[in-house]
Amino acid sequence: MLEMIMLGSGSRGNACLVKNEDTMILIDAGFSGAEIRRRMQLENLEPDDLEACLITHEHGDHIRGASILSKRHKVHLLMHPATRQASRKKFNGSERMKHFEMKEVLELGSLRVTSVPTLHDSASSTGFLIESGDASLGYLTDLGAVTEDNFLMLRNVDFLVMEANHDRDMLWNGPYPPHLKARVDSRVGHLSNTDSAEFIALLAELGKLNGVMLAHLSEKNNDSELALATVRKRLKRKIQIFVAGQDQPSKPIEVEQK
Ligand SMILES: [Zn+2]
Ligand SMILES: [Zn+2]
Repeated sequence: MLEMIMLGSGSRGNACLVKNEDTMILIDAGFSGAEIRRRMQLENLEPDDLEACLITHEHGDHIRGASILSKRHKVHLLMHPATRQASRKKFNGSERMKHFEMKEVLELGSLRVTSVPTLHDSASSTGFLIESGDASLGYLTDLGAVTEDNFLMLRNVDFLVMEANHDRDMLWNGPYPPHLKARVDSRVGHLSNTDSAEFIALLAELGKLNGVMLAHLSEKNNDSELALATVRKRLKRKIQIFVAGQDQPSKPIEVEQK
């Protein structure tokens, strides 16, 4: 049984647990080590039991607690070499590190993880395809646009964690300075609700998608009801939709297969 728990998602920190019966991994460590442990313990889980922590990219909201997690709980950090290079000041060399190349398939315990390159303004940026037996989960946050390659790699997932960062009208009428609005809205920024809805609808029509969690919602430029409504309106068939919170972990969500 493949299962996920979003520990929290947004510009103040990201961390997502994915597990099956015998392997548990973390995607990103964007909260302090103590906060990651606190949120895991709410579900009676311990960081010591993590098989690995995958890092999507070097921005602080994805990497903040990575060093301490590795040192205190002996967790292997897995990242692209360019991410390692760009974040070298955040590590002192005593962490347990492993590298992966884009599209490399990693066997982590009984989970199979494939890295998926995404468009974002960082040294390297990664999404993931995670498989347990024939159940699969896709993870795509921090991307300005979805590529054909993203579609080809994730088209058959059962569950998708997908960025729905902003509503474009809220962004452009909102409080950000112009250069930041342009950055967020660019092809290497963050994904809008409508672009997110488009990709989710595509997978729901052509693939096996059964459920989705909208993630990395902007607190200034989005609203969870609006994000949810935008995605629902675009879908031609009903699938389960969850919205990730910044301050509260989600309940455990089982990846169901059609
Ligand atoms: Zn981020
Ligand atoms: Zn980022």
